[in-house]
Amino acid sequence: MKRLGITVSGIVQGVGFRPFVYNLAHRYNLSGWVLNNSSGVEMEVEGYQAGLDGFVLALRQEVPPLAVIGEISLTSRPVMKDSQFVIRYSVSGAAKAALVSPDVAICPDCRQELGNGTDRRYQYPFINCTNCGPRYSIIQDVPYDRANTTMAGFIMCEACQQEYDKPTDRRFHAQPNACPVCGPAYHLLDRQGNVLCGDVVTETRRLVSEGKIVAVKGIGGYHLACDACNERAVQVLRQRKIREDKPFAVMAGSLETVRMLCELSPAEEQLLTGPARPIVLLNKKQTGQLASGVAPGNPQLGVMLPYAPVHWLLLTGQDIWVMTSGNTSDEPIAYDDADAFERLAAIADYFLVHNRPIANRADDSVVRVFQNESYMLRRSRGYVPSPLELHWNLPPVLAMGGELKNTFCLTRGKQAFLGPHIGDLENMATFAYYKQAINHFKQLFAVEPQLVAYDLHPEYLSTKYAQQLSLPTVGIQHHHAHVAAVMAEYGLNEPVIGVAFDGTGYGTDGNLWGGEFLVADLEGFSRLGHCQYIPLPGGAKAITEPWRMAAWMLQELYGKQTAELGIACTEQLPVNWQLAMQAAAKGLNSPFTSSVGRLFDTAAALIGLRQTIHYEGQAAIELELAAAGISGELLPYHLSSGTPAILDFTPAFAAMVQSLRHGASSGYLAACFHLTLADAAVSMVRYISQQTAIRKIVFSGGVFQNTTLLSQIFRMLEKDPFLLYVHRHVPANDGGLALGQAVIAGKKLGCC
Ligand SMILES: [Zn+2]
Ligand SMILES: [Zn+2]
Ligand SMILES: [Zn+2]
Repeated sequence: MKRLGITVSGIVQGVGFRPFVYNLAHRYNLSGWVLNNSSGVEMEVEGYQAGLDGFVLALRQEVPPLAVIGEISLTSRPVMKDSQFVIRYSVSGAAKAALVSPDVAICPDCRQELGNGTDRRYQYPFINCTNCGPRYSIIQDVPYDRANTTMAGFIMCEACQQEYDKPTDRRFHAQPNACPVCGPAYHLLDRQGNVLCGDVVTETRRLVSEGKIVAVKGIGGYHLACDACNERAVQVLRQRKIREDKPFAVMAGSLETVRMLCELSPAEEQLLTGPARPIVLLNKKQTGQLASGVAPGNPQLGVMLPYAPVHWLLLTGQDIWVMTSGNTSDEPIAYDDADAFERLAAIADYFLVHNRPIANRADDSVVRVFQNESYMLRRSRGYVPSPLELHWNLPPVLAMGGELKNTFCLTRGKQAFLGPHIGDLENMATFAYYKQAINHFKQLFAVEPQLVAYDLHPEYLSTKYAQQLSLPTVGIQHHHAHVAAVMAEYGLNEPVIGVAFDGTGYGTDGNLWGGEFLVADLEGFSRLGHCQYIPLPGGAKAITEPWRMAAWMLQELYGKQTAELGIACTEQLPVNWQLAMQAAAKGLNSPFTSSVGRLFDTAAALIGLRQTIHYEGQAAIELELAAAGISGELLPYHLSSGTPAILDFTPAFAAMVQSLRHGASSGYLAACFHLTLADAAVSMVRYISQQTAIRKIVFSGGVFQNTTLLSQIFRMLEKDPFLLYVHRHVPANDGGLALGQAVIAGKKLGCC
C-alpha cells in the first residue's frame, strides 16, 4: 500500500473536477479525499501501486471537458488506512487564488435533455451542469459557491438538491443548478412592461417572424434580435440603434445553415462549435438569403451558433437572426433589467427577460481565422476571465489599457487577467463600467496592484484615472505596449523587430505615431523606422473625415491643379476644403502623424470609396474588402535609410491618381495599395534586420486586423530567415494593449 499527495492547478474549480477525481478513485480502488484549495484541487489517494499508477495516468488524460490543467505535483505521504474516498468541503475563503471559469455554451448532454419530452428539464431555458452554463456572468465573489452567485436567491428543490449533493451526478456542485420548479424563468413583455400571455418561446418566435425587434436577455447581457432575412426589420433596427452601416452579427440555428450562408474551413467550424461560441468572421456565399442591410456591401459576415439554452429554443435549424448587442452605438451592452428597459425601449418592440441577475456583463467575443488558427478580434464572453499564462512571474500590476476598445489587465504571478471588452471610454456609462470592472477583478482574483501602467496619451481617460489611484504609476508608449503584448503571448524577452501599425498612439516626441518599426524588448525600445510624418488636417476631425487626408495629399502633389484632375475624389470634396488645407499648412490644429491607419484613410478617400466614416476603422475595412480577390501591382514608394529610416508613400499616391485618371477601378487600386504597403513593410524589416541582426519579427496594432495585409507580408517573408509572430489570444487592436503594458511594467518592478 502507498499514499500520494497530489495538487492540481489551473481551471479545476466549478468544472466537475472533484466528481471526476471521485469516480477515478473508485475505478482504481483507492481511498482518501479531494478538496478545492487556494490554488486549485488537492487530494490524497491510497492503494496498491498499479491502482495509483492508473489513477495518475487517467488524471492527466481524461480531464473533464472544461478543465484546463496547469501543473500536477505528486508527493509521497504516510499510509492512513482510510476506509473510503470522500469529497471534502473547501475551507471558506481558501479559494481566493483559484480561477473563475468563463461562461460555457450548453453541452451535448444538456441539449439532449432540453429536447427530451420526458426529462424534467424539457425546454427549460436555464438547464446547465458542471460541464456547461453561466460562470463569470453570475459570480459576485469567490470562492465559486452558489451563495456568491446571482443564483443565491433561488433555493433548490429536493430533486435539484439531490443532484447537487451526489458526487457521481453530472450536476454535483453545479452552482447554477436549477429546474422549472425552483429556478429562474423567462417572461415576455411589451414596451410598457405588460406581461404577454402564452408560451414565451412560441410567442417570441411569432413576433420575430412578423418583423418585430425583441430585446433578449441572455448570458452576459441583452441582445437585440430580429429576423435577418427581413429587410424591413433590419432597416428599422439600424435606424433605431443609430447604426448606419456597421455590420450586424447573426446567429444561425444550425451549422448546416451557416454552411449555406458562408464558406467554412475546419478551423472556422471548430471555433464556431467550441465551448466559447464566439462570433466568427466568415466569407459570405452569394445566396441572396440575408437582408442586404445585415452587412451592407460586405463580403464577410459575423456568425455565431446558439450558446445559451434559450437560443436553442428560440432558433430552429434554418433560422437566421440578427443578434446584435443591446445598446445604442458607443454605449456598453445593457445587462441590468431596469437599465435595459430604459435604454432599449426606443429600439425594441418587446422584451424577453428573465429573473436571474447578470453580475458581470460579457459581450460576444469576435474571432477570425488566420493561417488556420484563431485570431482574436474581441476577447470577452467565453474567454474572460481565463488568465493568459505568462512565461514570467510578475509582481501585481494593473494596466489601464487605451481609450478605444478598452480592456484592462491585472497580473498575479504567471497569470495575466485581461478584463472583458469595455468599449470606448469617452462614453460616460462605459467609463463607469470600466472603473467598476477593475474593482471587481481586483476582488475576484485577490490582486492588490503595486504599480499602475498607463498609456502616455495625456488625454486618455484611462491615463487620467491611473493618476487618481494613489499608487505608483508608469507611462508606457502605445506601440511598445502593442509589441510587448505579442511578446507576452509567446514568452519572448530578447530584442525583436516590432512592426506596429495602427490608427493613433501617442509618441514620445508628442506626435501621433502609428506606422512604427521598433527594436524592442520588455525593458525599452528604439524607433528604427517609421512612416513619414504628415499633418492630420483638423486633428480628430480628420479621423472621422478621411477626405481631409486625401485633400492634403492632393494639395501636396498637385497644388492648384487639384480641382482639374477630373477624378471622383476631388468632386466629393466639400466646397471649403481649401480653407481646411490652408489652416493645416499653417499648422493650425494639424498634429503630425505617422499612422498607417491614416494612410488607409487617404487611399480610401482618394479612390472614392469613403469620405466620411461612421465607425472606427471603417475606411480601412472597406479598402480591405474592395481589394478582396483582386491582384494589384506594386506602386512606387521611397525608403530613406538612416536612423530612423523613413517610408514615404507620396509616390504611391501620385501613381494612384494617375491610374484613376486612366480609368483604373477602385478594387484594383485598393489591391495595389495593400501590395505596396506590404512590400514597404517587408523592405523596412529587412533593412532593420541587416543593421541589427535581429531575426524575430512581431506584428501588432489595429491595422493588423486586416489579414489581407498580414497574409501578404507573411508570403513575402516566406524565404527570409525570420521568425514571425502574430497575436492569437488577444486582439492586435487596442483590446490587447493592456497585456503589453502589464508585462513592461512588471519587468520594471523586477520579475523572474
Ligand atoms: Zn451541461
Ligand atoms: Zn429544482
Ligand atoms: Zn493602438
